[in-house]
Amino acid sequence: MPRLGSWIEPFPEGIYVRPADAWVDPSQPKARALITHGHGDHARGGHGEVWATAETLAIMATRYGEQNGRPMAYGDSIRVGEVEVSYLPAGHVLGSAQILLEHGGERVVVSGDYKRRPDPTCPPFVVTPCDIFISEATFGLPVFRHPDTGSEIDRLLHRLRAEPGRCVLVGAYALGKAQRVIMELRGRGYEEPIYIHGALERLCRLYEELGVPLGELRLATGVPKAELKDKIILCPPGALNDRWSRRLPDPITAMASGWMRIRQRARQRNVELPLVISDHADWDELTRTIREVAPKEVWITHGREDALMHWCQLHQIKARELNLVGYEDEDD
Ligand SMILES: [Zn+2]
Ligand SMILES: [Zn+2]
Repeated sequence: MPRLGSWIEPFPEGIYVRPADAWVDPSQPKARALITHGHGDHARGGHGEVWATAETLAIMATRYGEQNGRPMAYGDSIRVGEVEVSYLPAGHVLGSAQILLEHGGERVVVSGDYKRRPDPTCPPFVVTPCDIFISEATFGLPVFRHPDTGSEIDRLLHRLRAEPGRCVLVGAYALGKAQRVIMELRGRGYEEPIYIHGALERLCRLYEELGVPLGELRLATGVPKAELKDKIILCPPGALNDRWSRRLPDPITAMASGWMRIRQRARQRNVELPLVISDHADWDELTRTIREVAPKEVWITHGREDALMHWCQLHQIKARELNLVGYEDEDD
């Protein structure tokens, strides 16, 4: 009997699905790419056919121009070569999907990136039983336990109100995190206009076009300093300490990222108010997911593989480390 999943071949540049002649999230241009979600380390330009959700295709179009897209709705199955391919929600960012591949009586799920806690910008992760579960491990260490998102948002609002005359400048990744922070603020009853850096504008508009209502957003550029007092301003992490932020009224520098759990990372970016808000599963979410999916094997991709490998072995699940290159975990 051939080895489980012998038709799936991990290469440094991505996962090759031989009987579909297709690659999952390849880092090099390929004739046929199955894309889990729009983050730059998973979705690159230059492929031939691109199979992805309509939302991911729209995100890719804003970054790389129009794609030769094959839109996949959540739950639909399509035959690609000799493989039945389905896309299921991953709960990571708008349009993010796990890809279920069925061939020769075996089921393989490539999760892409995922999380389990609620996110008002995308549907929740769907547990999909399978033989091989290919999981990320960005926060694959027991030290990573993300706090409740609502309490992090409350800390932000509390700080804003405690220091009148200042503003809170939140560094947030442009795809997913920025829109989620905005929606979480709205969910906590914050209805003031939220000011955004120009680099966030296109994706915020796209989220709204795709049905995620972000409330009143205003561009922060060119706005008089006085207007920005007592306001929340969002920018990409790279703009937190650059010249752009110097014209803001005495900003309280915040950043929304799973990495803010690490004090040193907050200090490196001069972050005064670290907000631990992550779009990736923390340690408990990773292990809970593996338990619920109950695969025969777990293949682990980017992140801290060792601890999760060890956990799988302790729980009698075969685990294997894939050495894919080009994945970054800074997107959180
Ligand atoms: Zn991602
Ligand atoms: Zn990733």
